[in-house]
Amino acid sequence: MKQVTELYLHIPFCVRKCEYCDFLSGPADTPRQEAYAKALLEEIENTWLSDSTEISSVFIGGGTPSAIQEEWIRRFLDKIRDRFWLAADAEITMEANPGTLNRKKLSVYREAGVNRLSMGLQSADDSELRRLGRIHTFRDFRENFNEARDAGFSNINVDLMMALPGQTQQSWMKSLETVASFSPEHISAYSLIVEPGTPFAGQELDLPGEEEERQMYWDTTELLKIFGYAQYEISNFAKEGYECRHNVGYWMRTPYLGLGLGAASLIGEKRFSNTENMDEYLGGSKDPDSIRKNRETLSVREQMEEFMFLGLRMTEGVSENRFFRLFGKSMDEIYGAVIDRFVKLGMMEHADGRVRLSRAGISVSNAVMSEFLLSS
Ligand code: SF4
Repeated sequence: MKQVTELYLHIPFCVRKCEYCDFLSGPADTPRQEAYAKALLEEIENTWLSDSTEISSVFIGGGTPSAIQEEWIRRFLDKIRDRFWLAADAEITMEANPGTLNRKKLSVYREAGVNRLSMGLQSADDSELRRLGRIHTFRDFRENFNEARDAGFSNINVDLMMALPGQTQQSWMKSLETVASFSPEHISAYSLIVEPGTPFAGQELDLPGEEEERQMYWDTTELLKIFGYAQYEISNFAKEGYECRHNVGYWMRTPYLGLGLGAASLIGEKRFSNTENMDEYLGGSKDPDSIRKNRETLSVREQMEEFMFLGLRMTEGVSENRFFRLFGKSMDEIYGAVIDRFVKLGMMEHADGRVRLSRAGISVSNAVMSEFLLSS
């Protein structure tokens, strides 16, 4: 029987570190980038997947995958096709940042099979971009976006961030409207989270208040609706048929295999991630088993919890039938009391065999979802 798996490749390089970033990424010289790309090819070469495993989507993320020499992207995808069964209609996404793109790179990506580009813009306001430590201006984005269209990309996501230091309701709406007027197929809009250990964490930041941030969020959903985007997840909006299949798979707990430095995997009830130590990765990638760390086997209870709090991120919510098929128990038996409580409070809706967050529930989604931890 066919098994479907998603594939993630991590490219941990950026031109410069942004002020808010705690991802596993940073600058590196060309020899280091090449050594890493070769090691990643070796990991792909030496990773075993059964003949019945079909790769339904590939996501090349980072870091900034567009910061490395474009030929590597072609070689990664060729190697994936060579080693694995890649679905003919696989969604192949690559993250790319303005300021690291040009026409030649974009046409190599297209020829290599990348069919979805995810552009990290974050803001259409140059002073906000400077404050974030981004390497690009809005003008860079505009040029690169148009070049991507010329290169044949008909499925583009733009990442934006709200609740930035110094950002006002007006400047956020202006960013959003400006980007929506370019008509990308997909927009992700996340709130800034100040992570410990980042330069932002040590600075006095002029951040919008909680109420203002909530208003920014609801205004986002309204504005994007006017521009023809449907909200399908707490922070993600798409034109019809352009939901990110890779991310939907993640929220539905489709198995995924992560390759590259620090990349995480979920195969059945097994979870593991690659080493975050670059030297260890470079030395061990040809023996993938030796670089897999943090191995854990999820209990049925943990799998149920993940099913709920990942699935509830999506506006369509979670399916009672699917829950029963996966776990052999009804959702009502495990979560009936907590669902009833939130339905009565107006935080959840329960209809047509599905359970989802209501608008009021989305506003306090973290608190609601934490109630689905069975140990709490
Ligand atoms: S470009 Fe992205 S991954 Fe790189 S430092 Fe900035 S936020 Fe982090």
